[in-house]
Amino acid sequence: MNRKIVALILGLTLLCAALAGCGGQSTLDKIEKNKKVVWGTNAYFMPFEIREGEDVIGVDAEIAAAVAKKLGVELVVEDMEFESLISALESGTVDFVGAGMTITDERKEKADFSTGYWTAVQVVTVAADDESVLTVGDLSSLVIGVQSGTTGDFVAEDLTNNPDTGIMRYNTVIEAMQDLKNGNIDCVIADDLPSQAIVSQTEGLKILDLAPSDEETYAFAVKKGDTELLNVINEVLAEMMESGEIETLVNKYSLGQ
Ligand code: GLN
Repeated sequence: MNRKIVALILGLTLLCAALAGCGGQSTLDKIEKNKKVVWGTNAYFMPFEIREGEDVIGVDAEIAAAVAKKLGVELVVEDMEFESLISALESGTVDFVGAGMTITDERKEKADFSTGYWTAVQVVTVAADDESVLTVGDLSSLVIGVQSGTTGDFVAEDLTNNPDTGIMRYNTVIEAMQDLKNGNIDCVIADDLPSQAIVSQTEGLKILDLAPSDEETYAFAVKKGDTELLNVINEVLAEMMESGEIETLVNKYSLGQ
């Protein structure tokens, strides 16, 4: 082929990529056309999201509703496994994700994150009568329960001496805590507020005064390159953080269980 033609084709291909696909439409175009925006979450994570009958309520639900309101469209909720959320963004099954999701370097390769709206830490929960865990190092030989694919899972992977048998993975923190209560595992590593919410409602569990890892930041996520939608989410978050509303909502949904 003639070099000029090759150069022209290459140029057009790059231009198309820059325009997010020849003839294709951006996520924001799709949202405006369909008059609805699809929020992806995993609704078992109090106070950020929890099912109440047919509805999903919680801090992230209120943020998602505010995003839909700002866009002037209807909010549709897709409740799915936490581990599937980022691929659902990539495939366009959901338009944005809000799920108490921590910003991590690995996830940043697959999705774009909003500004952070909450700081969390991992905590260790054990049976109320268990006095054997005194340091983070003691966790290395225990059977640790985690929610699959979460930062608690990654922390457990770092801590355990037995990668094959030392970690039990569940779809939700609630299921992990239930198995701990039943005596099938030694502890659970999970985010602080959801752990507190479950422990306060479940007899026979306690949270230890240990910090197994560093602080984490929660953010909303969009498909890579969905900058216009991300800007709308960032505007909503800025307003809700400035007014103190996020803090108020966290308190409201933490108490109102
Ligand atoms: N913050 C944790 C993470 O991002 C857990 C989130 C969740 O379970 N919803 O991995």
